[in-house]
Amino acid sequence: MSELRELYQETILDHYRRPRNAGRLADANRVAEGYNPLCGDRIKLFLKVDDGVIRDARFEGNGCAIATASASLMTESIKGKRADEALRLLEQVHHMVAGGGSGGGVGKLQVLSGVHEFPQRVKCATLAWHTMKAALENVAVPVTTE
Ligand code: ZN
Repeated sequence: MSELRELYQETILDHYRRPRNAGRLADANRVAEGYNPLCGDRIKLFLKVDDGVIRDARFEGNGCAIATASASLMTESIKGKRADEALRLLEQVHHMVAGGGSGGGVGKLQVLSGVHEFPQRVKCATLAWHTMKAALENVAVPVTTE
């Protein structure tokens, strides 16, 4: 189990050091900002949504390792998904990191499951996801995790 946990941390560190889909998205039609005052994580998320499908996703911001890795993993995971599928994934991820659920069905996002052992990091891990929800719902005001 400890080996598995180390592997998870490697994946998180890898996504932190080399975030996927970092930067602005020029033709985004959904944009939202999120802020986690507990940690100081900030994220701006850019989505291109066509016919209810997330065609592209990018993000920029300043966050801790967990927040950045979670945003990176999220953008990879939601590309090509329908908005309702992405929102269902949010529910699963939130349950997994907050409640310690098994994370069954979330695929490689399971690397985030270890976060539930660190309650003060849960909001770091879920920030990008709540920001994604705000973007899909076109909420104009900045999202905070509070
Ligand atoms: Zn954080």
